[in-house]
Amino acid sequence: MPDPNCLFCRIAGGEIPADLIHSDEDVLAFRDINPQAPSHILIIPRKHISTVGELDEEDALVMGKLFLVAKSLAKDEGIAHGGYRMVVNAGADAGQTVFHIHLHLLGGRGMGWPPG
Ligand code: AMP
Ligand code: ZN
Repeated sequence: MPDPNCLFCRIAGGEIPADLIHSDEDVLAFRDINPQAPSHILIIPRKHISTVGELDEEDALVMGKLFLVAKSLAKDEGIAHGGYRMVVNAGADAGQTVFHIHLHLLGGRGMGWPPG
């Protein structure tokens, strides 16, 4: 069920524009509006799942699909060879600001560790 108050549900519904780079029946990907790397893409399930803590067994397949889309987009972006980072912020302390689960794909520059 889409949440009418959720930004990413509204993007998935076409109500709010985004720089879409992948769309299928389960998964959507678009460029982050405030990129933190030369390539910064958000990959989301169409299904509204607010955060990792709300995942159910039935979500296992779509969460796997997020990784497969990320892998394919990393290749398209030309960052697959050099390497890239995938991040899921879960909850306030991790810096989650949009409560519709999403996978960040970041690449095109060297990354530090540990993250801030
Ligand atoms: P997080 O902090 O993990 O919840 O990530 C949310 C991300 O969504 C941030 O990197 C924001 O820059 C990004 N964001 C917020 N609004 C939009 C939008 N309208 N289109 C694309 N990305 C967005
Ligand atoms: Zn949502």
